[in-house]
Amino acid sequence: MTVNILFAAHPKRWAEYENPLHKALEKTGITYSLKTEFPPEEVDYIVYAPNSDVQDFTPYTRAKAVLNLWAGVESVAPNPTLKLPLARMVGGGLTEGMVEWVTGHTLRHHLGMDAHIVNPSNQWQVRIPPMANERPVTILGLGELGLACGRALAALGFPVTGWSRSPKSVDGITTCHGTDGLKDALKGAEIIILLLPNTPATENTLNAETLGLTAPGAFVINPGRGTLIDDDALLAALDSGQIAHATLDVFRVEPLPSDHPYWAHEKVTVTPHIASETRPGPAAEVIAENVRRGEAGEPFLYLVDRTQGY
Ligand code: NAP
Repeated sequence: MTVNILFAAHPKRWAEYENPLHKALEKTGITYSLKTEFPPEEVDYIVYAPNSDVQDFTPYTRAKAVLNLWAGVESVAPNPTLKLPLARMVGGGLTEGMVEWVTGHTLRHHLGMDAHIVNPSNQWQVRIPPMANERPVTILGLGELGLACGRALAALGFPVTGWSRSPKSVDGITTCHGTDGLKDALKGAEIIILLLPNTPATENTLNAETLGLTAPGAFVINPGRGTLIDDDALLAALDSGQIAHATLDVFRVEPLPSDHPYWAHEKVTVTPHIASETRPGPAAEVIAENVRRGEAGEPFLYLVDRTQGY
């Protein structure tokens, strides 16, 4: 029987994904049909992005899974019409991209690169940065992306502490977990990287109280989600000098409104949610593997725990 696979992402994405998906699906040996439209009751798998027109899953009575192209699932996991297994994107180029982005922005702040790159009066400024092993880095969120970034930074010599919901043991990384563990993770941190998902439990993880725990003059780097930070508290911490600079890739409202104080703040770098993007070639392999597993009766990879929201 033909397996019907609906591509339900933003229409602009079809041109990028069509060929890589065919290439990956053909390798599975499954007889399939891949299209952007089917009668809903004939669909077996939904390749999905949360900005798709498909928001009501009720008519997809035969479908076996929703296969998300994004790592973040906050706008699909709580959908009350979704009763199917939901798999998120892990791999698909996301990990490599995030490691590059996080390492680049960490090194920018660690090495004080701005003073030399933006030096309009041509001053000969000799400022020797500390060694990486003298610069404690804390990563909030020690999942697929946080762990990969932590390992890359630890390999450069940074003392890395990671914080997660459940306890973990990772070679070369000091780990903390739970509410009490957050204080230990932030105490004395000089660079704080947020790679938590957007869930009710992670909202405002960085707030007036927790920002006060870091080393004075720390750097905040947020490629996670905008909701992880209390914006007013961060602005106050930047103005007081408790936080020296914030590099922010994600915001509560995107695109960031033109009158938002972050745009004009001299201690804030805004990047437009580009820290890491799913790449069609490797992502198609992940999708095809989950279709293969579904057809073989094997467990799906990267299932979202809907009770936790990630
Ligand atoms: P993941 O594998 O699900 O990891 C999430 C981590 O956060 C886990 O370590 C988890 O703890 C921890 N966590 C969740 N809730 C927590 C809580 N209440 N307290 C403490 N720790 C908590 O996710 P991922 O693939 O690494 O992705 C992380 C996030 O990055 C995504 O959700 C998305 O928002 C963001 N992202 C951004 C971009 C971009 O371009 N800016 C691209 C991709 C992803 P456990 O290990 O105990 O479960």
